[in-house]
Amino acid sequence: MIPLDLVGKLIIGFVIGWLFGVLINYLADELPVRRRLGRPQCAGCQTPFALVNYFILPRKCETCGSVRGKRTWMVELGMGIGASLLVEFTPRGFGWFGALMLLGYLVLVTVIDIEHRLILHMVSLAGGVIALILGIQLHGVVPTLAGGAIGFGAMLLFYYLGILFIWLSRRSRDEETTEEEAIGFGDVILSGVIGLLLGWPGITLGLLLAILVAGVVSLAVVIINVIQKKYHPDLAIPYGPFLTISAFLLIYIRPFFLR
Ligand SMILES: [Zn+2]
Repeated sequence: MIPLDLVGKLIIGFVIGWLFGVLINYLADELPVRRRLGRPQCAGCQTPFALVNYFILPRKCETCGSVRGKRTWMVELGMGIGASLLVEFTPRGFGWFGALMLLGYLVLVTVIDIEHRLILHMVSLAGGVIALILGIQLHGVVPTLAGGAIGFGAMLLFYYLGILFIWLSRRSRDEETTEEEAIGFGDVILSGVIGLLLGWPGITLGLLLAILVAGVVSLAVVIINVIQKKYHPDLAIPYGPFLTISAFLLIYIRPFFLR
């Protein structure tokens, strides 16, 4: 039998996680488009949403009829289940609330980057504060700052290598293309934030795992495209989620393999 007080905690955890999900969805809807927070607007026609309609039901624009997407429900359900599981499986060194805050940050970055190929500075700043506090709690001051510096520095190197590569390939083809940078500067900052979180030497594993996840996901995307016969070489894949997935695996999943 599962004790009743545990059931109560799991339910409360789920509800709080769901509310976190509501907040993440609101931020992911508003920040990339308007860079500020105000009354939620329809993504389709920019008409302001009535609050009950937007936050609860029917979540459907009265003007153009567009419905808030599947992501809204996935994030809320995912955060609810995540927060509930964290009651029982809080990673070592974390409090429940810290683990939940971090999960929320990782989900927000991932959603915005996938939907807009964008890592916002204000989100990174909030994440940096969370990562700094958790990092110091987990590893102490010096390894945390070292991890942040290594994470930032390593990705900065990739950033310049990407610019160099694009410059060289343009020169060799002798053409003016309007290709964007291979890696955005937002990825560099995100890597610094993940570095603070994982600390030194944890960030080395974090970066290696991110590269591995990137390889697996890129391969899967190529295979899916080949099967669907629409492969074209310059698929725009956002890089941020590889870092956030790597951090997620190391912090939330790895402890199960170390028990
Ligand atoms: Zn609308």
